[in-house]
Amino acid sequence: MTHSLLDTLAARLGPAHVLTRETDIAPHLAETRGLYRGEALAVVRPRSTEEVAFAVAACAQARVPVVAQGGNTGLVGGGVPFGGVVISLARLDRVRAVDPLDATITVEAGCVLANVQQAADEAGLLFPLSLASEGSCRIGGNLATNAGGTAVLAYGNARELTLGLEVVLADGQVWNGLRALRKDNSGYDLKNLFVGSEGTLGIITAAVLRLHPKPVSKATAFLGLASARAALDAFGRLRDRLGPRLTAFEYVPRFPLEVVLRHLPGAVRPLAGDHASYALVEISSPAPDAYDELEAQLGELLEAGLAEDAVLAQSQAQGAALWRLRESLSEMQGFEGGSIKHDVSVPVSRVAEFLERATVACEAALPGVRVCAFGHFGDGNIHFNLTQPVGAETAAFLAEWPRFNRIVHDIVHAMDGSIAAEHGVGLIKRDELPRYKDPVALDLMRRLKGALDPQNILNPGKVLAAESGPEALP
Ligand code: FAD
Repeated sequence: MTHSLLDTLAARLGPAHVLTRETDIAPHLAETRGLYRGEALAVVRPRSTEEVAFAVAACAQARVPVVAQGGNTGLVGGGVPFGGVVISLARLDRVRAVDPLDATITVEAGCVLANVQQAADEAGLLFPLSLASEGSCRIGGNLATNAGGTAVLAYGNARELTLGLEVVLADGQVWNGLRALRKDNSGYDLKNLFVGSEGTLGIITAAVLRLHPKPVSKATAFLGLASARAALDAFGRLRDRLGPRLTAFEYVPRFPLEVVLRHLPGAVRPLAGDHASYALVEISSPAPDAYDELEAQLGELLEAGLAEDAVLAQSQAQGAALWRLRESLSEMQGFEGGSIKHDVSVPVSRVAEFLERATVACEAALPGVRVCAFGHFGDGNIHFNLTQPVGAETAAFLAEWPRFNRIVHDIVHAMDGSIAAEHGVGLIKRDELPRYKDPVALDLMRRLKGALDPQNILNPGKVLAAESGPEALP
């Protein structure tokens, strides 16, 4: 059976695009953090929507699971296969069209995010989705995870940037929903079912994405703040004054900043003094006034005592250096030993309270644990990470992951938050979902999955538990 499936796939896609050798498929079996390692019969590399449809139909007929993969940069184990066939979208990498008047771009799922940004830029427009992994993640993966990133405050998540989709369904049919409409109330919003579904409901092969005008000027600053509460006050003030021109408010407490300064080659301390908290602020303007505007706002923050100190980037290079500090946090944390990570959100008004409660609870649970929380403060999204105590044994620390999940997720839930803010559920949060998700919502999700994928061949065991499947925690 397996051989005849692989022969069928090779006959249509070409033998060079049905990988079975261990060394060829190895990069597709593991994920970025090394938490999971799976297995697969083959990795197939279709070049067109028709070839994806063919591969899915063949697998469906053979009842063999398929796992879609883009850049494989996901952080929840969603793209790791546990048997079956991996469908890599990497060769569907064409920009099909850019339409300046509609302000849209039509791209295939395998386009690297940075290339989508560049194509928009060359047309004089902005595709604002921005993640530290943008040089390797692919737009299909971004949409399948409803990626967030650093520009959500002004432009929304991947979902808000999606107008239309083309999707291969579990039986190999193609749904052509590639429309550029701003208004379409002709029934259920199908595209929003597939965005954020992590490859469990269909395989996205192309998308029509919304573009925005390019800002004429931008300015970036780094604030020194007394506390998370001060960060909230400063954020509230800036948002009220600047509205959508406030394009980023990223929160970095003292410990993560020290970590990045310790380990990132060439990193420079942005402010001379020491502060409990920091924030990276960016504003974008349709006029050439961003620098003056941010300078004025910083003056007011300092005068009102909402910030203790601030530095305003004097050049693009200085602004990029500030962003590099922020974007390196996650990677640099690894140099301090084992990390237990939680990607959570609470209402923006409660972020400071969440940080205080979760920090106290985790420090009480394991004396010496180092809270390394940072993130998209303006979206209420905190990466509430924990670093092992100095001198602790890494494996013993990581074995505490379920205990810390309980502590952190219970607090998030009690504060009306989400235990999966922007990275998705995948495998790592799958078994947490039944505890925190509304049972009716969970039941609806199961019914949708059953209706769209009755054989359960699309990324089985991810998001929702399957009868048999991989263990959720590494
Ligand atoms: P993959 O990892 O290949 O796949 C992710 C999931 O989507 C899997 O479940 C997979 O089966 C499914 N999938 C992939 N392609 C398709 C498709 N075409 N159709 C259907 N399903 C598909 N995420 C954020 O949201 N915000 C951040 O700020 C952020 N920063 C990051 C920084 C770093 C350094 C790294 C390593 C990751 C970061 N991520 C972030 C996580 C990750 O980059 C995003 O989730 C990204 O959107 C995944 O894209 P990908 O192409 O790598 O998807």
